[in-house]
Parts: sequence; C-alpha cells; structure tokens
Amino acid sequence: MIRAFMASPIGHALAGLAVAWGADLVPGTRAWRTAPQSASWYERAGNGLTLACAVLAAAPDLDLPFGRFHRTVTHSLVSVAAVAAIAGLAAARARWPVARVVIMCAGAWATHLLVDWLSADRSVPRGIQLLWPFDGRWFISGCDLFIGSERRDLFGAPTMTRNLEAIAQEVAILLPIVIVLWLVRVKALAGLSSKLTRSDHPAK
Ligand SMILES: [Zn+2]
Repeated sequence: MIRAFMASPIGHALAGLAVAWGADLVPGTRAWRTAPQSASWYERAGNGLTLACAVLAAAPDLDLPFGRFHRTVTHSLVSVAAVAAIAGLAAARARWPVARVVIMCAGAWATHLLVDWLSADRSVPRGIQLLWPFDGRWFISGCDLFIGSERRDLFGAPTMTRNLEAIAQEVAILLPIVIVLWLVRVKALAGLSSKLTRSDHPAK
C-alpha cells in the first residue's frame, strides 16, 4: 500500500529557487546578484547563493534517517531562526547585505515547512511539529495541495509510479511560478547589470 509522505526534494528545491529569485525582485542592494549577459547560466542565475537556497529548501528532510525525529526539529520555526542566524553570520563575513541573505536563506528553509504543511501525509502523526520544542502538536493544512511522495521501497514499481506522479504535480504547480520569477528577474536586474558593467569599465 502506498503511503504519501509529503513533497519530494524536487518540489522543495523549486520552492527554494522561487525564494532566491523572488528576493532579487525586492529593491535595494542587489547589483552583486547580477552578471553580464556574457556570463555563464550559473552566474546569471545568482551563483552559489541561489543554489544554496534550493538546497536549504530541501535540507530539512535530512532528518529522515532519524526516525521519530523526522518532521520535528528541522521542521520547526526554531530551525528557521537558526538558519537565519547562521546565514546572517556567513553574510557578515562575506560582506554581503545581511538582511537580504537572511531573508533568502531562512525564507528558502521556511518554504519547506509551508510545502509540507500543504502536502498530503498518510503517516501518523500527520504534519510537522512547527512549534517544537515549546509545543508538541503536529500541524497540517489538510488541503493536500501536493499529493506527496513515497519514501519506502524506492525501486518498487508502485513507489516509482507514485513518486513520478508526485514530482510531475509539484513541477506543474511550482515550475510556472519559478519561470515567471526568472523572467521578471532578468528584466529587473538587466539595468543593474549594465550599470555594473559600465562601472567596471569606466569610459576613457
Ligand atoms: Zn519535510
């Protein structure tokens, strides 16, 4: 029997991408997030910080091997605060805009909680311990927006079919959002990038 266990890493990573590129639309110090048209796709997409957001959005499920701790510590608001603190320290060291990096990284992690909250979950107890360690209740929306993937017997035919369905549904919902954010971001950052290029190569 298939038991759905919330969204797949692909769905979570797409949500993290959406946060990274969505944050780039917020006015402020963001010229450092741009790259000229001639740069590689990786640089134009926002380099390692964008990749970090995608990884951070999927990372809370690294608690899966820890059995009864799954969907507790790493799926709580306390973990979001911890990610914010670590991102803030890292940004200060790298001399990046601290608030922007904190919002991106903590926001990416927080999307994991949101996506899981919106997902189907047939395990018991259902949902996530959002308020761990202060409150042991489990939270789930019940709307089953994402049908959920299966984590057991990964190479069995029923599990593979279920996971392909789950991934297809996540991509159908999240990829259009990511594409729109990318297109708007390209437009929004284009002016900043050309300003940067001009200041890098001042007219003689
Ligand atoms: Zn999760």
